[in-house]
Amino acid sequence: MPPEFDILIKSGQILDGTGNPWYAADVGIQGGRITRIQKEIDPQFARRVIDAHGLTVCPGFIDTHSHDDVYLLVNPRCDEKILQGVTTNVIGNCGISVSPLSNEHSAEMTSFLAVMCGQQVSTEVLNLRTFGDYLTNLETLKPGMNVLPLVGHSTVRIAAMGAANRVPSENELKEMKAHVARAMEEGAFGLSTGLIYAPSNYARTEEIVELAKAAGRFHGIYTTHMRSEGDAEPAAIAEAVRIGQEGGMPIHISHHKVLGKQNWGKSVDTLKMMAEARDRGVEVTCDQYPYRAGSTFLAAVLPPAVLAGGPEVFTAKLKDRSFRAQVVETIERGSEAGWENLIKGAGFEGLMISVSRHEAYVGKSISDIARMENKSPYDVIFDLVVEESLGCIIILFMMDEADIIRIMRNPWTMIGTDGIPGFGVKKVHPRMSGTFPRILGRYVREQGVLTIEEAIRKMTSLSAQTFGVRGKGILKEGFDADVVIFDPATILDQATYEEPNQGPVGIRYVLVNGEIAAQDGKVTGATSGKVLRHSK
Ligand SMILES: [Zn+2]
Repeated sequence: MPPEFDILIKSGQILDGTGNPWYAADVGIQGGRITRIQKEIDPQFARRVIDAHGLTVCPGFIDTHSHDDVYLLVNPRCDEKILQGVTTNVIGNCGISVSPLSNEHSAEMTSFLAVMCGQQVSTEVLNLRTFGDYLTNLETLKPGMNVLPLVGHSTVRIAAMGAANRVPSENELKEMKAHVARAMEEGAFGLSTGLIYAPSNYARTEEIVELAKAAGRFHGIYTTHMRSEGDAEPAAIAEAVRIGQEGGMPIHISHHKVLGKQNWGKSVDTLKMMAEARDRGVEVTCDQYPYRAGSTFLAAVLPPAVLAGGPEVFTAKLKDRSFRAQVVETIERGSEAGWENLIKGAGFEGLMISVSRHEAYVGKSISDIARMENKSPYDVIFDLVVEESLGCIIILFMMDEADIIRIMRNPWTMIGTDGIPGFGVKKVHPRMSGTFPRILGRYVREQGVLTIEEAIRKMTSLSAQTFGVRGKGILKEGFDADVVIFDPATILDQATYEEPNQGPVGIRYVLVNGEIAAQDGKVTGATSGKVLRHSK
């Protein structure tokens, strides 16, 4: 008699992902699915037995916010995520997806993707014209985890009208809507915006409402990196809610946070706004990464007016001393509409270099470097921007721990990394390698911020429900065998701001569609991920 199970997970404590407390049972897996869960399953019916005694067995984690769109084409296994227990990766966030592309604006698209995804995109990638082409290509490459795609607003806008800073013509808007509808037909789960990034931020609310309507017909989700996460955050939440409501889509606020010392504590108000929308029957959710610091280009600390015209223009202007003096004056004056003053919000000591051609600067703050070089902190920034343009990346310490905890405890907050891939070499933000184990080690075990049941729910069933993915997020017979087996007593992130690429400890096994993708901190090389497609 052939064995009934490919894998049998014996004697573990099951946390099924719904928020229910653990129970003891064995889990039988066959053909990529969970085929049986019961108290005692005889190991003789299994080809392979995993002893999970003393370990927690839970559904694979869903990373609701990733930027691995290009990385997956280069390293389809995406090891950093697998090692954290991520088995489903939501891509296409913050308005940035690899496709659709148009012939007419392919140069603008190449430079946009090079900047936003941290890597020059090869011409082969640019041959992937439609959203469906990209997904098919990803399938051929065999990803290490499941991929759940969104279509990005900036990408769609570039395809229709390049990087132009203006309102679209009627025809351009029509073309954008057609791109969105086609992407939804070809499998996108929703539409994302990144309203602080050009060209997404050139759009008025009305433009996005029109696109939301195009995606809403297919019952997709609207996810947004809002226009403000600091001084103007309430208005940004109101805009997001309006877009979702008028477009007929649920609203998901990406990497929710409250930026800037002057705004600390205001998560009370932002969560209340979302709660009130929910009480009115508007479906609003959010996600979060568990770090006090964010990450962006150093150039993003400069006022938007300075950045107008693109890198060549602003790096040239910044060589001029009198221009520098004007910029300093603007920054010292405070904020203006549509601009998050990151220098005011973090202080020079709160801005740390993570990627730079100057090895000696990596891991140092702008204040540290100013002292090292005997320059003003402003000149440190200007010189680096002139020299490295958008290549210099910073970590910004701008969030308050109390806000992070308040947002984490909110019942409809889920977990997403917002990881920017370092392509295995660059020192990026530790969230790329540490997010999920950090929640389970630091916030659950060490600080008791969440119960383990609640934490797992935020990483699994809540995310599956929100993004509309079937058969995932719960350990249940008939569901896909995406499983994480970890030791709740030892699980912990090891990635730090100084050494961000270190994988976590305490995760014993990660299964993707019934195959072991990682074991004891090492990837096995399995590539059993699936490209998920939204069905209407
Ligand atoms: Zn974002």
